[in-house]
Amino acid sequence: MKALDLSITLPEEAFSARGLFSSTTGFEFRSSQAKMASLVWEVFKKGGFALIEAGTGTGKSLAYLYPGFFSTAGKKSIGDPVQTADYSREESVSRTIIATHTINLQQQLIEKDIPFLAKATNQSLRAALLMGRSNYLCRRKLSFIQVNKDKLTPEERRSVTKLISCGEEAEGCLEQIGVALSREFRLMLVSESETCLRGHCPFLQSCYWYTAKKKAFAAQVVVVNHHLFFADLALRTGRGRGGGSSEKDFSQEKLVLPPYEHVVFDEAHHLEEVATTYLGIRLDQIEVERFFHRLLRKDGRFSGGRLITLRHSLLNKGADLAFLQRQIGLLETELIPELSELEGCYQRLFALLQNDFSSGAEGEEVNYRFTADLQIEDDLLKETVARIKESSEAWEKKVSLFLDELQEAQVDEEFREDSIFLAETGRYLSRMRMDLPVLLNGDEDAFVHWLETKKRTEAGKTILHRLPLSIGNLLYNNLFTQVKSAVCTSATLAVGKQFGYIKERLGLDLLHPSERRECILDSPFDYNRQVLVMVSKDLPFPDSPLFVQAVLKLLPRIIEATRGRTLLLFTNHRQMQEVYQQVAPILKKKGYNLFLQGETSRHRLLKKYKTASSPVLFGTDSFWEGVDIPGPQLSTVVIMRLPFRVPTEPLFQAKSEALAKEGKESFIHLSLPEAVIKFKQGFGRLIRTKKDRDVVVILDKRICTKAYGRIFMSSIPGGRICHFSVEEMHDEIRSWLG
Ligand code: SF4
Repeated sequence: MKALDLSITLPEEAFSARGLFSSTTGFEFRSSQAKMASLVWEVFKKGGFALIEAGTGTGKSLAYLYPGFFSTAGKKSIGDPVQTADYSREESVSRTIIATHTINLQQQLIEKDIPFLAKATNQSLRAALLMGRSNYLCRRKLSFIQVNKDKLTPEERRSVTKLISCGEEAEGCLEQIGVALSREFRLMLVSESETCLRGHCPFLQSCYWYTAKKKAFAAQVVVVNHHLFFADLALRTGRGRGGGSSEKDFSQEKLVLPPYEHVVFDEAHHLEEVATTYLGIRLDQIEVERFFHRLLRKDGRFSGGRLITLRHSLLNKGADLAFLQRQIGLLETELIPELSELEGCYQRLFALLQNDFSSGAEGEEVNYRFTADLQIEDDLLKETVARIKESSEAWEKKVSLFLDELQEAQVDEEFREDSIFLAETGRYLSRMRMDLPVLLNGDEDAFVHWLETKKRTEAGKTILHRLPLSIGNLLYNNLFTQVKSAVCTSATLAVGKQFGYIKERLGLDLLHPSERRECILDSPFDYNRQVLVMVSKDLPFPDSPLFVQAVLKLLPRIIEATRGRTLLLFTNHRQMQEVYQQVAPILKKKGYNLFLQGETSRHRLLKKYKTASSPVLFGTDSFWEGVDIPGPQLSTVVIMRLPFRVPTEPLFQAKSEALAKEGKESFIHLSLPEAVIKFKQGFGRLIRTKKDRDVVVILDKRICTKAYGRIFMSSIPGGRICHFSVEEMHDEIRSWLG
């Protein structure tokens, strides 16, 4: 086939009914897809921003991949991830980053859509999938583990054998290999910035992580997840985890993404949540414990922690030299005991936080939000924080002296690995020391601070959080004004056909209207013919004590009418458990196969559901989206109640207060749009192909009795809406599903 002349093949032509793709197997003309591709092309060519809601079945990925590859064809997109210190976007390159929320979509892009595009256009396309660093095996660590296999459990040995045999094919990516590892064992195998020897590593040339990065630097299109995108952005801007400073830094080796000109966010309804996490900071007891454990492990495996092994190595080198005696002495009498003491200070800190600020019943989860400095009224806490500061500073100085001496004695090459690790340890401690008073001081208007813990029981569960209330300004200043173009797309961005909510949350409202394009593209599915939307009118309101009893009577009838094949969507775990306990015995007796969220991983649960006869799945939060079961195996979605968020969640509460200060009603500007977007996601679980014929049952009658119900109904893509009484429902469903 002759290579395509891309300079003239515009998307409206390529995606037309007789265009470039029309003769390719699997392609079906969809006007909404052609419109979307043209819009993205235009934005990429001229620069600017687009918000595109495109219904299920539009073929969004091809519509942004085509411009992603070809609107900038011929421009430079190469860099060197290892040698290049300049990660600035000022370099003249043309590259598109595609960031998605789920791994499924990333795999679909890399394994299906991009090869399809390459074949249809007869072009060789340079694309790369880049995952987070901790997804890649570290060859140096793997080689060390192989030498020390005798110290592993039989199960760990089996995992290592699989990792070695599949490592090459999977390019060192754990996700692809699919081995389940404990968190601790995983850390002993994966690539980490803290322990990487970089230019000094004997495995650098074949390093999985650097190879993946190199591939990304040579690609026109790089596919990543939202987390990696924002982890990179947080590093570039000096914000986020451990950041705290406002200094920009584009020249650190830790940055992962190559320079880029365009970015597409698919599944963009998740952007705010992910960006908020990465632009905030936290102190997690489990992570702190793990950090000290790696330095001072006392259980003997792998000789007990990095400081202890270092002491052994120095002793083995012989204690006759004055220098070595000094170093061993410094380790034994100062570095090891003082780090142990610092560990004790952190333990005391978490114990104080857990005991002083948690209330409620034993073991109950507590989210304690605070708006003042916790140290002000708590002398013991203040004393502990001061002690941490003092001890940490002293230890950081001593470790730096220790490292200088190794260098002066010219043995730092021999102890290179330890030196790098200790230097990183010093930096980590210094970050925690600086973050701590910031985290404890809740007196900041732009941030919400809270303490997550459990009353008394379960040590190790305490986390201090500090999250920005709004990321709009941050994204505007650090992202939208730095790239040529950005596209945010999803099947659920608009609320009642308007983009006001998402624009405000993401800072897109700060752009000049002439720079911003907005578009809602209808799904090619005929919802009015394919979906029956049943709304209950004679059930009690969901807050009534009678609601669950009524639902318990109704559910078996719905499930009987649909012959299983049903997804039940709850908004809280407790109610899901209650309903499950009551109806499970009846349904099981009748031969239905029941699946309850939490029984096993989400992935396994869905896999089992897909092959079971008469399946019924009970799910909450994460099941409202990402469930993709085409055909009759999933015929009915039952929505228990409209998915309004619990008003006591600290972040939600603080956002509501901030809106109130601006004179805005939080129900209109926050609760309602959030719930509508989630509702649309739940609704979207059903129709996945043109042949599907399904039912949505809404048991929350507020959708037809409250004024805001209209906004929910006008946000869904269609459906034959019918208000039913409990008596009529069984027959209606039966006749609809046939
Ligand atoms: S370069 Fe770093 S990540 Fe790669 S193998 Fe060496 S130590 Fe591991």
